[in-house]
Amino acid sequence: MTDCIFCKIARGEIPSKKVYEDEDIFAFHDINPHAPVHFMIIPKQHVASLDEADMSHQSVLGKIMAKSGELARSQGLNDGFRMIVNTGRIGRQEVYHLHVHILGGPEPLGPMVTRR
Ligand code: 5GP
Ligand code: ZN
Repeated sequence: MTDCIFCKIARGEIPSKKVYEDEDIFAFHDINPHAPVHFMIIPKQHVASLDEADMSHQSVLGKIMAKSGELARSQGLNDGFRMIVNTGRIGRQEVYHLHVHILGGPEPLGPMVTRR
């Protein structure tokens, strides 16, 4: 998936404000933040969405979850944060390379979703 924008970011071909990188995952700030702190964690391996994930992705998805608190604290989120994974059309996913949003700031965030 060489055309994928997040694959290119993970390979360093498109610049980003990097938070963390290891052999499996890459974390970088969102270009259009929805909160005072807003970054994303992605698997380096291309996976289109959580809907496409299966048990072969167990290890990398577990790593993303297990690393999230440490990475959030590294960005100043010392009192909690929100993790969001927009998935598919209903989840209004825009970029089809699986990514976990980490959002937070000094004040509590808004409601989980807008009720309607
Ligand atoms: P989604 O709606 O798919 O869950 O979120 C995609 C996110 O990727 C959006 O919040 C958008 O601002 C962010 N984004 C899109 N293109 C780029 C980019 O080139 N660089 C960075 N850092 N973020 C991007
Ligand atoms: Zn990709």
